[in-house]
Amino acid sequence: MIELTGVTKEYPGGVRALAGITLRIGAGELVAVVGPSGSGKSTMLHMLGTLDRPTSGTVAVDGHDVSRLSDRQLSALRAGRIGFVFQQFHLAAAVPALDNVADGLLYAGVRVKERRRRAEATLERVGLGHRLGHEPHELSGGERQRVAIARAVVGGPALLLADEPTGNLDTASGRGILALLRELHAAGTTVVVITHDASVAAACDRQIHLRDGRVADR
Ligand code: ADP
Ligand code: MG
Repeated sequence: MIELTGVTKEYPGGVRALAGITLRIGAGELVAVVGPSGSGKSTMLHMLGTLDRPTSGTVAVDGHDVSRLSDRQLSALRAGRIGFVFQQFHLAAAVPALDNVADGLLYAGVRVKERRRRAEATLERVGLGHRLGHEPHELSGGERQRVAIARAVVGGPALLLADEPTGNLDTASGRGILALLRELHAAGTTVVVITHDASVAAACDRQIHLRDGRVADR
């Protein structure tokens, strides 16, 4: 489903965040990306999600070389196929959970009524059917992350990318989020999760170890 070939990424200032990554993630996999801070995990996730372009090397999604797509085609690919979850939730303040999730469909060309209907169904799916009207500050950390995940998957993406989704959560909430990711995976979503947590990594089918911008044997 997604393939990186010889991907390097250099940031301005000469930081070499990725130093030649070649890997393939198949449809339906549940993959953990682990490695020390600064090893290039987030940068690699940006590449997998086509949020950023590599300095050299190729990224292919469903067999299509991403560098050949226009920005518009790329946005369409992201909106239709890829969901993102981040450690800091990235929810809009003072906006009810229902609308935070419904806004995940803004670029999908769906009318507002249908957006809200799907958002409600997705919040129910993540166990928050009773919190539709709650704003982020009225929710616990674990609940906020559930809203963020609902927002990421409301459009039915084939690929869910999560950057330290349990990093800000206590152990019990983290376990709940992991269970939710496993559920989405069981329902057919390809899931790639960056984690510092060995128990989260162990619960995934495959682990990719990064060190200094390269894939390490372990
Ligand atoms: P990780 O997620 O594993 O902690 P990152 O992918 O965030 O690692 O960062 C890899 C390296 O690239 C680090 O040395 C970091 O400082 C650097 N880096 C990340 N983002 C940028 C950026 N936008 N500009 C310059 N350097 C960056
Ligand atoms: Mg990171």
